[in-house]
Amino acid sequence: MTPVHVTGEVLASRTAGGYQHLTVLAPGVAERFRPGTFVAVSVGSAPDDELPGARLGRRALWVHRVRPVGGRGQALQLVVAPVGPGTRWLAGLPVGARLAVTGPLGRPFALPKEAVPCVLVGEGYAAAPMFPLAERLRERGCPVTLVLAAPDEARLLDALEARRSARAVTVVTGDGSIGTHGRVADVIGEVIARADAAVVYAAGPTATLHAVAVAAEAAGAWSQTAVEQPLTCATGLCHGCPVPVVGEDGVARTVRACVDGPVIRGDRVRWGELG
Ligand SMILES: Cc1cc2nc3c(=O)[nH]c(=O)nc-3n(C[C@H](O)[C@H](O)[C@H](O)COP(=O)(O)OP(=O)(O)OC[C@H]3O[C@@H](n4cnc5c(N)ncnc54)[C@H](O)[C@@H]3O)c2cc1C
Repeated sequence: MTPVHVTGEVLASRTAGGYQHLTVLAPGVAERFRPGTFVAVSVGSAPDDELPGARLGRRALWVHRVRPVGGRGQALQLVVAPVGPGTRWLAGLPVGARLAVTGPLGRPFALPKEAVPCVLVGEGYAAAPMFPLAERLRERGCPVTLVLAAPDEARLLDALEARRSARAVTVVTGDGSIGTHGRVADVIGEVIARADAAVVYAAGPTATLHAVAVAAEAAGAWSQTAVEQPLTCATGLCHGCPVPVVGEDGVARTVRACVDGPVIRGDRVRWGELG
């Protein structure tokens, strides 16, 4: 669906663990949203910026949820990890602030035609799209198993809500502060086997996506991975987010994460060559 570029308004901003949750009214974006698509937002500068214009590039964010707001249409819920100047600026926006939003961008997760068991893996803030995806899959009768991962408990997204979204939930943290101590790679093979999954969906760091794609293939399941390549224009024009893949014809080629992805079949990505 064609993305739109609109001026949004911050309706709410709340800190939860290591993230800032923003509710943004962005007319037309929420209505077009499908799980796996993302938005690109413009960020402003601050008086202490060393380099004027350093924040020219828009920042990409997954959509966590879409919710109606009393009489004003649908609003986007975004999860911001304040890691650098752009995301810190977003995390500090007050209620009522205006925000330039483009979206939804990219290709969403493909949904299975049959009601097959699915495993959903989300790590850190990238677990955001897994919640609306779980909702869509459940509507189709698919049994959903969720793997939520993070470096620590503070960066585990919505663990409580996960129990409502899925039939079974596995929690993995890098420091063992909650759930299994370790990485997604340590548990994913067993989770896929236990769920008897036909499709595995994943969003998170590249190493996690790679591990999920390998485990899915070994189990004879399809995998759909949401790759997170740094994006420059986010609209396909600049070719600045290359993903090395093998096409349906078996020929190696490069696609753009922003428009050909971000969701790409895991067995098509040449993971060893992805930066
Ligand atoms: C499709 C997609 C969805 C994303 N969803 C979210 C989200 O829901 N919540 C969230 O907090 N972050 C998300 N990100 C990452 C976020 O866009 C970057 O962290 C952000 O652009 C960093 O900007 P900054 O100015 O805060 O930090 P910078 O100082 O510019 O960078 C901080 C760190 O982020 C990396 N980075 C910088 N720009 C990008 C970029 N465009 N894409 C990926 N990594 C980048 C840098 O290499 C560095 O390690 C997403 C990225 C992509 C590509």
